[in-house]
Amino acid sequence: MADTGSVMEIVILAVVIAVVVLGAISGLVVSSRKKKQLPPAPPPSSPSVTAPPAEPHVGEEAETPREEKRRTVEEVELPPAEEAAPEAPEEPAPVVEPEPEPEAPAVEVPEPTAGRLVRLRARLSRSQNSLGKGLLTLLSREHLDEDTWEEIEDTLLTADVGVAPTQELVERLRERVKVLGTRTPEELRGLLREELLNLIGTDADRAVHTEPGVGVNGEEKPGVVMVVGVNGTGKTTTTGKLARVLVADGKSVVLGAADTFRAAAADQLQTWGERVGARTVRGPEGGDPASVAFDAVKEGIAESADVVLIDTAGRLHTKTGLMDELGKVKRVVEKHGSVDEVLLVLDATTGQNGLVQARVFAEVVNITGIVLTKLDGTAKGGIVVAVQRELGVPVKLVGLGEGADDLAPFEPEAFVDALIGD
Ligand code: GDP
Repeated sequence: MADTGSVMEIVILAVVIAVVVLGAISGLVVSSRKKKQLPPAPPPSSPSVTAPPAEPHVGEEAETPREEKRRTVEEVELPPAEEAAPEAPEEPAPVVEPEPEPEAPAVEVPEPTAGRLVRLRARLSRSQNSLGKGLLTLLSREHLDEDTWEEIEDTLLTADVGVAPTQELVERLRERVKVLGTRTPEELRGLLREELLNLIGTDADRAVHTEPGVGVNGEEKPGVVMVVGVNGTGKTTTTGKLARVLVADGKSVVLGAADTFRAAAADQLQTWGERVGARTVRGPEGGDPASVAFDAVKEGIAESADVVLIDTAGRLHTKTGLMDELGKVKRVVEKHGSVDEVLLVLDATTGQNGLVQARVFAEVVNITGIVLTKLDGTAKGGIVVAVQRELGVPVKLVGLGEGADDLAPFEPEAFVDALIGD
């Protein structure tokens, strides 16, 4: 009996110990789980006029934008799960779902801008085939009769070169061909190259001016670029691509999403910015574009950024509305100091319509440069000539595709070479 009693005591003791140990273990597991679940990334605060999601202050930008960047890139490329660093398991191994801790992906490095047009030349010559090759074929005919000259004229007009420049060019070609007498293909190519270059102009200042200046209070002010144009021309895309061009050239950029009327424009711009580490200042949808533009430059000054790029709204309901809006944006930004560039974005595929838009914008703001987009999708490269004539302002950049680095500084020689081929 005594033996049975002590066996019972031992059994009870063992049960008690087991219960206590189990309790302790489950407590550990629960608290460890709690710990793991505690810090999910805090939800981004809702955007406000001056504070975009997780907007850092000067000096904090290294952390916060990285968080934002991480989120964006995660959406595109899922980080490999193996990269998560699981914590050293304790005894007994707690059942904890591993939380992926992906390494912050590096910000993209845009392609260098030097020679971009040469890289994109194949795309350009493909789309411009009918202009350059057509002209060369016609000029190579044995007898250059009136019909042939008319065909040459038609080819130029179809490519949107414009009436006056076409007549000038044909006149020059006639003269030079007459002087030349017999023509070898090389001579013709050289002659056409020279005359097209003459028409486009090789001595215009095509640099996008983004040098820092002095602000109204004597402080250093970033270069300020306003990007204007009708919606759909590729304005926001161009602003994003231009940010990449500037980053590739070693500059720091702040973006101002002053197109507050198109619902997705600010998100679109912010995504472009995040890819290259440029912060975007945005306001509420439908908010005052001028105040966003003002805040963007203010932020650029505070951050000592090199350049502030301002994407504007391009509603063309009425000229007065546009004038009020763009004029106001410019005036308000100028409270900080000068606007260094006003780039007009034109869709090369829109021909005459594009020229009409160009005229309206030129009346509203002082355009300093033209960006011709979608040159990859049209054989109407002659618009380069026509729009420069129309505005007396040089084409500074050309868009040659939807890819992130498909924006190139405009180089007349590379452009003409692409037109007439090698
Ligand atoms: P926005 O309304 O003027 O801001 O126009 P978006 O920037 O949203 O661009 C309108 C469309 O044009 C988008 O689908 C762009 O990808 C496209 N786009 C912009 N630039 C180019 C270009 O150079 N080539 C081509 N093929 N598409 C372009």
